[in-house]
Amino acid sequence: MGTIFEFTLYARPGDDGTDDIRRIAEEAFDIVDDLDNRISVWKADSQISYVNRHAAEEPVKAAPDIIDLLLYCRKVNRESGGAFDITVGPLVKCWGFYKSEGILPTGDVLRDALAYVGMDKVNVDSSARTIKFAKPGVLLDFGGVGKGLALDRAARAMRAHGVKAAVLNAGTSSILAIGAPPGLQGWRVQIYDPYRPGHCLDEVTLCDASLSTSGNYEKFFEIGGKKYCHIFDPRTGKPVEGMLSASAIADTATETDALSTSFFVMGEAGVRAYCDAHKGIRAIMAPIPENGKPMPVRIGFETRP
Ligand code: ADP
Ligand code: MG
Repeated sequence: MGTIFEFTLYARPGDDGTDDIRRIAEEAFDIVDDLDNRISVWKADSQISYVNRHAAEEPVKAAPDIIDLLLYCRKVNRESGGAFDITVGPLVKCWGFYKSEGILPTGDVLRDALAYVGMDKVNVDSSARTIKFAKPGVLLDFGGVGKGLALDRAARAMRAHGVKAAVLNAGTSSILAIGAPPGLQGWRVQIYDPYRPGHCLDEVTLCDASLSTSGNYEKFFEIGGKKYCHIFDPRTGKPVEGMLSASAIADTATETDALSTSFFVMGEAGVRAYCDAHKGIRAIMAPIPENGKPMPVRIGFETRP
């Protein structure tokens, strides 16, 4: 998943030394590796790479959890008004991100790529558990949600082993808190300040909750002094402009990962409408200041501080 996963666990009462708890952490790392091996578009032998190669020819059978993930992504696509879209693959490709080099596509190339973007080009048969693309050229990319799902799976394994307090992070982009450190309300988590690198934008306390941040500083290239980030507006086919970072807070990391990517695309007004309709979801947005003055915005904190 192109990042470093770090897990910090409190030993359970009765754990002898560090061996038992270390084994639990190792099992959780294996779960992350296993998911990565199955859904990565960077690995030619992953199940998703197989789907991407063959689903235009015929319906391709996929594991139940992959079908569930796809259906979940379809739901977020709908609820985000199309901002979140796992069919962005052709855009990620034509802007050069799969080769880790920046390319400015011509209008024609971009128009071509956009013709393969949209969830209407992906048919899922949930009873037969198959995926079929409407035409060749469609490419699924779970880069906007995979790390969150990996954290939820790792946490599920830890909880099953009786872990009551732990914090799990996938690089700087997603963090999941199990319980709280003894005697505290939760885990204090700081959000990176994109206006003043090295500082903290905001701080939240998480207890059995997750936070994800999508930022234009994570993965980008620059041409002619202009910055092009790795998050696309699926409606224009272009990298999102005007946003430095968007964070989402919710119960699960799958949700926050998908939502931080969505929020980055939706902008402040769209996120306000989303949080009004989905109580319990919180957002912290850092738009690019129009007058040079940093203006971070908290949304949804009225109902759940
Ligand atoms: P990070 O990977 O840095 O944590 P995100 O979770 O926001 O950031 O995921 C960004 C990745 O999601 C991109 O690299 C790309 O693979 C994919 N992506 C880009 N734009 C979208 C979008 N509009 N909807 C869904 N996935 C996207
Ligand atoms: Mg994301």
